[in-house]
Amino acid sequence: MLHPNVTGIPVPRPTGESAPYWEGCREGELRFRRCASCDLSVFEPRPICPRCHGTDLPWAVSTGDGVVYSWSVVWRPQMPAFDVPYAPAIVRLDDGFDMVTAIVGCEPDEIHDGQRVSVEFHDVDDAITLPFFSLS
Ligand SMILES: [Zn+2]
Repeated sequence: MLHPNVTGIPVPRPTGESAPYWEGCREGELRFRRCASCDLSVFEPRPICPRCHGTDLPWAVSTGDGVVYSWSVVWRPQMPAFDVPYAPAIVRLDDGFDMVTAIVGCEPDEIHDGQRVSVEFHDVDDAITLPFFSLS
């Protein structure tokens, strides 16, 4: 069974640009930005739209639903803190952006291309909560 790796792992350090994202994770919301000028969904923390160079990028809340775009199963950890197996993946959200994450809550051979997944959140420590995805 694939479990979220949240114990003893290196944790992200929120920046001024990414802090609202991490606050959202803490509150159970998967946040992203949507360009007010061209409607592009922007997941990476940045102050400028990569398509139209607009600077009005208000935060939005994703449904947290999407599909598995690509994945792998890791059987030998690169760092001892990561329990194996784990399944790093790229999930394509219905809201129009991709994110790197991990699939949890199933057996490794249950993951397939295009499979529906939904976000779930797991606390790492008092400040950081990470999003993972499980099969819908
Ligand atoms: Zn734009």
